[in-house]
Amino acid sequence: MARPLIQSSSLYNSSSSSVDLHKSSGTTRILRTQLRFSEVAQPHLRLLNMPSCNSTPKLKAWKEPMTLTKEMVDGKEMSSVNECESNEFTTLKHRFLNFKKDKYLKNLEHFQNLADEQSPKFLVISCADSRVCPSNILGLQPGEAFVVRNIANLVPPYENGPSETKAALEFSVNTLKVKNILVIGHSRCGGIRALMSMDDETNSSFIRSWVVVGKNARTSTKAVASNLSFDQQCKHCEKESVNGSLMNLLTYPWIKDKVNNGELLIHGGYYDFIDCSFEKWTLENNSRVDDQVTIRNREFWS
Ligand SMILES: [Zn+2]
Repeated sequence: MARPLIQSSSLYNSSSSSVDLHKSSGTTRILRTQLRFSEVAQPHLRLLNMPSCNSTPKLKAWKEPMTLTKEMVDGKEMSSVNECESNEFTTLKHRFLNFKKDKYLKNLEHFQNLADEQSPKFLVISCADSRVCPSNILGLQPGEAFVVRNIANLVPPYENGPSETKAALEFSVNTLKVKNILVIGHSRCGGIRALMSMDDETNSSFIRSWVVVGKNARTSTKAVASNLSFDQQCKHCEKESVNGSLMNLLTYPWIKDKVNNGELLIHGGYYDFIDCSFEKWTLENNSRVDDQVTIRNREFWS
């Protein structure tokens, strides 16, 4: 059994955390509404996440079935809805066509080879947070990285039940044979804040059921950083949970074997989008010395 000897580096500088998954009661309401009227609601209700749009149709969408809402709103309001949606997708359309012109068609042979097969060097596990886009911040191009994004970039241990993250691990390691796994944590992570906020009496939710995967990081953070402010504890836990995920990777027998054989490297990363810096480190599992785990090649990019 791998012995965890790693600790998060010091993260004790003050910063306020503005992300709180518990604050998204509006979103929950939206999703419930979408479920109720799933056949027609999506384009209309997407407006609820767009603060620049007229708010009048939002209330009607919450209160009334979509079919009734359609009859209630006048032409002006509906054109506002359509205009917002049109603007969003016009932007995406232009970006896609620019990608096709500037990248795809200029590297046609490369993309046609990619169409036949992929052979990524990396499996990247990062948070679903919209501010943490690994392809964007690390310049990963199509074909370079198999990417899994989940709340708080967590890796469950091997013995837990099924999850999409485990399926991605199995496929990328055993079939695609990636050479590197990189788990990226980040600043002001709402998932980690939810993990640090939960208590035993908290009602069950999908978020709680997921972030509890990182409970060991929460426990160790509380043990060493309980004298710090809650924001600082969260910041500590953001790195601690990355190390927890790296340790959990070693509970997968086929990952541990490849690491010990030198076929696979496991790395941690931490992206701070407040000062735009990136920290990277590599896990070393010494199978000849009682599975002692250490960190090497720590780098700080700023
Ligand atoms: Zn996050």
